[in-house]
Amino acid sequence: QQQKDVFIRKSELLSSERINESQLQALLKKGILEKHDKTLSRLKVYEPEKEISEIVLSPEQETAMQSIKNQFHKNNTVLFHGVTGSGKTEIYMKLIQEVLEEGKQVLYLLPEIALTTQIIHRLRTYFGNKVGVYHSRFSEFERVEIWQHVSDKTSDSYRVIIGARSALFLPFNNLGLIIVDEEHDMSYKQFEPSPHYQARDSAIVLAKLHEAKTLLGSATPAIETYNNTARGKYGLVSLYQRYGGVELPNIKIVDLRKENRKKQNYTLYSKPLLESITQALAKKEQIILFQNRRGFSVHLECGLCNYIPTCKHCDVTLTYHKKNNELRCHYCGYKEAVPQKCDLCQNPHMEMRGIGTEKVEEELQLFFPQAKIARLDYDSTRSKSAYQQIISNFENRKIDILVGTQMVTKGLDFDNVSTVGILNADNMLYYPDFRSFERAFQMLSQVSGRAGRKNKQGQVLIQTFNPHHPIFQLVICNDYQTLFHKSMIERKQFTYPPFCRLIKITLKHKKQETLDKLAKMLAVEFKKVFLGSVLGPEYPPIMKIKNLYQKDIILKINLSKSLVSSKNIIKKIISLPVFKSIQIHLDVDPY
Ligand SMILES: [Zn+2]
Ligand SMILES: [Zn+2]
Ligand SMILES: [Zn+2]
Repeated sequence: QQQKDVFIRKSELLSSERINESQLQALLKKGILEKHDKTLSRLKVYEPEKEISEIVLSPEQETAMQSIKNQFHKNNTVLFHGVTGSGKTEIYMKLIQEVLEEGKQVLYLLPEIALTTQIIHRLRTYFGNKVGVYHSRFSEFERVEIWQHVSDKTSDSYRVIIGARSALFLPFNNLGLIIVDEEHDMSYKQFEPSPHYQARDSAIVLAKLHEAKTLLGSATPAIETYNNTARGKYGLVSLYQRYGGVELPNIKIVDLRKENRKKQNYTLYSKPLLESITQALAKKEQIILFQNRRGFSVHLECGLCNYIPTCKHCDVTLTYHKKNNELRCHYCGYKEAVPQKCDLCQNPHMEMRGIGTEKVEEELQLFFPQAKIARLDYDSTRSKSAYQQIISNFENRKIDILVGTQMVTKGLDFDNVSTVGILNADNMLYYPDFRSFERAFQMLSQVSGRAGRKNKQGQVLIQTFNPHHPIFQLVICNDYQTLFHKSMIERKQFTYPPFCRLIKITLKHKKQETLDKLAKMLAVEFKKVFLGSVLGPEYPPIMKIKNLYQKDIILKINLSKSLVSSKNIIKKIISLPVFKSIQIHLDVDPY
């Protein structure tokens, strides 16, 4: 009679302490036990759920999907411009299904993988263990296994990979489609550490190598991407209706100047915002409060001589962290205890300046003592499981108000959020960058888009000291077209992308004098070739990081010039012997 084999791991057997190594060898010799080598996976196996319902698209979604497929006949790359809440994910899933049926692989890129448990869960429910997830937070062993699962042609290989930008470098064996979701997102650009690359643009190149298609998705496309559709380089499919006929949120601008005139102290929460929160809480609806990270930090300052503690290694003010009662540098991680007296004048009374993120929560709790409040940002939630805990608590309505930074704008869908408040829009408006207008629009629209997802219109309140800034009218009307045309006029006038290519050259050196001298010489060399298209050298806003001084030179490369020859000229110049002693970093298409 045949007996069924039972396997036990050697390590398990030995750890039971009833048997030691030499006894084990004896049992093997007598043939009582047999030794077999087996490969065990570190990765979990996900079975698709038994009874999954067909994905049913609304008529609008169906039309959009057909248009995407039609566009793919003519174009390798298509932009899918769908407003927030238009149900892009269902359309992606349908497309994925069709590509899988052709026996090909799909790469689904997302800007922030730690926050996308919702999407991963949906895809796994549907496609089971055909779905692999890849990002740089996996261990090296796990990554090796994922590599094998991607390159394998066996039945248990991955057919759909959800990943952050580094997933581009996996060894796909038969790629049919790449989806770049939230294609406008800045985190697709990697600049520190090297290699510098823009994952969205690299995805298009990768697709070309595989003769695959690329679908770029966004509610607020990058100006460069939209321009490529206008030029006919990419196809375009637009969906301006939200799923289920839900209206886009009602957006109100709150004038903080008026609010503060009446009061003695600067207030974080205007009366209209407090009223909206009260109403939402009364109806058991949830609230998201968005706070831009810039402009919410606390530092120390001497009340007598105005001395401000700065980092020993960087040209940066140290930030006060209440939790550990310490000062920290956000650029190099340097920490020190809160000083008891001023370094310069020995005055024992150092004062706190600025509004910290903790203050935002504390004040809110005073207004709403019964409400459950949580915070989601990079500072307070270091670990992956901590993010997921907060997100799932919010999903399960264990949290009433979620306060967060940029993280709350990324790829999260909550169906009970009725109210969104933007605490201070001003620090997004004035940023010394040619993309600042575009970015402010993207950020404000994305945050607003979190409001009102199921059966009712959401409410958004934007607090600002500049209520007449033109960006607000565009956000209120969700007027992407005007944003696009305005941006294009401005960029043409001042020659910025897409009317040229930018290359940023950063020079770094320990000694400021050496840096100044060599940066000047380098700029002179560039000007001989690129003439008026050389900007700088100039100090960036932070001139010293990790003990190295830095200066930037920016080259504007005319689109009619050959990129290859420009590259060769730059290479030749920076490898001149005189520049040997200085660090030179190149960043093409800087963000
Ligand atoms: Zn002092
Ligand atoms: Zn530092
Ligand atoms: Zn911090």
